[in-house]
Amino acid sequence: MRNELLQNPVFAMAVEQFDIVADFLNLSADIRERTKWPKRLITVTVPIRRDDGSTQVFFGHRVQHHLTRGPVKGGLRYHPSVDLGEVAALAMWMNWKCALMDLPYGGGKGGIACDPRTMSTGELERLTRRFTMEMIPFINPETDVMAPDMGTNEQTMGWIADTYSTHAGHLVPSIVTGKPIALQGSRGRTQATGYGVAYCSCRTMENLGMTVQGSTAVIQGFGNVGSHAAYTFNRFGVKVTGVSDVNGAIWNAGGLDTAALREHVALTGTVVGFAGAEPIDADELLCQPCDVLAPCALDRAIHGGNAGDLKCRILAEGANGPTTPEADRILDARGDVFVIPDILCNAGGVTVSYFEWVQNLQRFQWEETEVLTKLEGVLHKAMDKVADFAARQGVTTRMAAQAIAIQNVAESKAARGMFP
Ligand code: NAD
Repeated sequence: MRNELLQNPVFAMAVEQFDIVADFLNLSADIRERTKWPKRLITVTVPIRRDDGSTQVFFGHRVQHHLTRGPVKGGLRYHPSVDLGEVAALAMWMNWKCALMDLPYGGGKGGIACDPRTMSTGELERLTRRFTMEMIPFINPETDVMAPDMGTNEQTMGWIADTYSTHAGHLVPSIVTGKPIALQGSRGRTQATGYGVAYCSCRTMENLGMTVQGSTAVIQGFGNVGSHAAYTFNRFGVKVTGVSDVNGAIWNAGGLDTAALREHVALTGTVVGFAGAEPIDADELLCQPCDVLAPCALDRAIHGGNAGDLKCRILAEGANGPTTPEADRILDARGDVFVIPDILCNAGGVTVSYFEWVQNLQRFQWEETEVLTKLEGVLHKAMDKVADFAARQGVTTRMAAQAIAIQNVAESKAARGMFP
């Protein structure tokens, strides 16, 4: 299994990154081995009846990286390219995010290799419910708490909660997060990731002695993360001068009216054609002068070919893995771009997922302002820890964030000792 996992390029990359940080931390061989490998790798077949009456068998995976600090937390992805190695890598990355934010969670991830765009709602519901049944021996609110990811949404979480609750004989809302408010989802969860991106960016501006009011931000992606980052930037007095989506990019040096843009996107499905802006080439958008550049769409958006041309002061990583290692080296050598690494910058989502789980366990719903105030507190604390570690150790913010996270997990493992 060790070699099979390492043959997967995504898992190999996650391990390579881990080894670099483990070397830096001088982790003992014992703790290093135990921290690196996933605790449980679960693969199940998921047969469903298609709408045309035929039967199709899908493969589903769930990886629970470790349960040392609490249940595993992480998304469930529906995408044709899902495989066990990729899911294991994503579970490992979730670990570091949860540990950096000091949430009482390990990292988990799951996925079913399928193309949800070609499946009807009924087929997706049957797939989700059957997968949940196959997972029953391995999940519960103290072991594994799923959430939406690529190709899944709050409806998917509603089906999981219903299937699990039907099996249990009573409602168990804490089995998933990111579910509808009507099923005890959390207020503030929808905007949490984008809110966190804008909050971390504005706090960083203050720390760097910049003025937030009237500063500028450019955002790649106008989905859940990008759009809520844009609205929150506006709320904090930052002008959003450019945004893009998969169809193209728009620009207005005076600042976009993001409320009007929201209506335009609701009507047309894209930012392209918005009356309050000019079109601009999507690649050029990333290199426009701005205070904050927030890639909130794809991995590897900032690479060796454009890192040298960025004209932002802060790179706020809303997406997962938006900066390649080559781009990291270029930015490090330049020294004029402050990077807010992804496991910190986009951790607002998992943090409010944690709040959702806590509210469900308490059977008590918090108001949105309470959720967002608590979120700011958690982000603030993590940002200070990362800045302090980076300054003391003379390392990049990315290395600091990963090192704090891995050290937290290693310390918990050492404190528990090894059974037997
Ligand atoms: P989403 O599907 O809601 O939105 C993605 C956006 O990116 C869309 O606007 C899409 O048009 C745009 N896009 C796609 N290709 C593009 C391209 N080539 N150029 C410009 N824009 C492009 O997804 P999301 O939930 O907003 O997630 C975005 C990123 O943030 C992903 O990397 C995801 O893993 C990460 N993330 C999301 C959350 C969350 O809570 N949603 C939490 C942590 C990290």
